[in-house]
Amino acid sequence: MPPHTIVMHASDNVAIVANDGGLPAGTVLAQGVVLQGPVPQGHKVALTDIAAQAPVLRYGVPIGYALQTLPAGTWVHERLLQLPAARGLDALPLCTAKLPAPAPLQGYTFEGYKNPDGSVGTRNILAITTTVQCVAGVVEFAVEKIKRELLPQYAHVDDVIGLEHSYGCGVAIDAPGAEIPIRTLRNISLNPNFGGEVLVVSLGCEKLPPAKLMPAGSIPITQLQGPEGALDVVCLQDEGHDGFMSMIDHIVQSALPHLERLNARRRQTVPASALVVGVQCGGSDAFSGATANPAVGFCTDLLVRAGATVMFSETTEVRDGIAQLTARASTPEVAQAMIREMQWYDDYLGRGQSDRSANTTPGNKQGGLSNIVEKAMGSIVKSGTLPITGVLAPGEKLQHKGLVYAATPASDFICGTLQLAAGMNLHVFTTGRGTPYGLAEVPVIKVATRTALAKRWHDLMDINAGTIADGQKSIEDVGWELFHFLLEVASGRKKTWAEHWKLKNALVLFNPAPVT
Ligand code: CA
Repeated sequence: MPPHTIVMHASDNVAIVANDGGLPAGTVLAQGVVLQGPVPQGHKVALTDIAAQAPVLRYGVPIGYALQTLPAGTWVHERLLQLPAARGLDALPLCTAKLPAPAPLQGYTFEGYKNPDGSVGTRNILAITTTVQCVAGVVEFAVEKIKRELLPQYAHVDDVIGLEHSYGCGVAIDAPGAEIPIRTLRNISLNPNFGGEVLVVSLGCEKLPPAKLMPAGSIPITQLQGPEGALDVVCLQDEGHDGFMSMIDHIVQSALPHLERLNARRRQTVPASALVVGVQCGGSDAFSGATANPAVGFCTDLLVRAGATVMFSETTEVRDGIAQLTARASTPEVAQAMIREMQWYDDYLGRGQSDRSANTTPGNKQGGLSNIVEKAMGSIVKSGTLPITGVLAPGEKLQHKGLVYAATPASDFICGTLQLAAGMNLHVFTTGRGTPYGLAEVPVIKVATRTALAKRWHDLMDINAGTIADGQKSIEDVGWELFHFLLEVASGRKKTWAEHWKLKNALVLFNPAPVT
């Protein structure tokens, strides 16, 4: 391939080298610039002479300031850049973008499982809730037995899983912040893919008893199936249990009516507006913000136009773009809610004597991402271009459709766990360095930022956005490809690679409260 670079915005004074293996010294770029030394793939090259202290522009914004004079053709890496100061949370532009209402996109449907609460599942899974880590081994044993001995008789049930986590005891259960892991676990139990069936396994002496996890009223009355409408609970310390196998038998017997009801369900044609898609990135490189994330952003616009819900998250990765986000808010209340969540996170990081610079990883920097500002600009593009109409605090459940900022840490597992709690029924995950990430609860569609990764991980990556860097496809092409693939996966007609291999990462609850 001839020398190929990607420029994100007309005012940028750097470009990204797209060629596999990078480009050698002396290469003449299409812009006429001669490389002063080798530049690795995904890294930035100066397109003009940049004076010391002058801004280095990517996405049309300063991602840093030159620490020395950078002649045109210089490899602009993180050691040559001064990180811009953090944007304060005062005097932000509120709703100034004046975005037109999205043009409706009609006629798209998928085959899903309708739930009593109005949500729609993309899979039909029996999930067993646990109140505390102590019961995890017993639940895992019971789940394996159910899958081995019962599941073959329930052809319409996709899977049986235990909602294992490390919370529930040894924690300050009433401390401020403890409501986050508790409501997260509660809301995950009500995820659309579980059909409204709630079965809880408890130890008996833990700090988080079933009645605190699922208080009266937390489960819609139509979803209560236990005796006289009570929560269906197996408590391992019950005196009726005589040995380990009696606990296992109790869990297996309790699962039967749930399996019967789930097995009676069938997929029905529903509008694409029933999709709830959580987007995030992990193992990012400089291509994340040039190929995969813009394609996801285009797909986000399509989904929102079709009436669906898309959540974007990862507070530390969007914090540096807060002014863009508050400008895109549909109302001042939405903008204020975003500022509230960012302030909460600033305070949370401050308590740990950390700041936003703690986000970027060594892999990010090797991949060409110099700092958190550059990473943030590339991350925000996943949210597309439409007005932001809702904000969720960590662990809260969605109340509205549309484009929603769901505040979560950027940590892949914690972000995914919180998006599950919000009610996501499909997960889109972009990666440049490569990660085999998957979840047992919802399909995870992985989008590769580079063709080299998509080829090497041909049985792990579902969509190759590297075709954008190769010049073979446009951002719009890959956005549409992803949109159609989402409808196929949601309908159960296609499986993701993570589902094929049964790859699943742990649920990791976000607990900002003390551990005792
Ligand atoms: Ca992430």
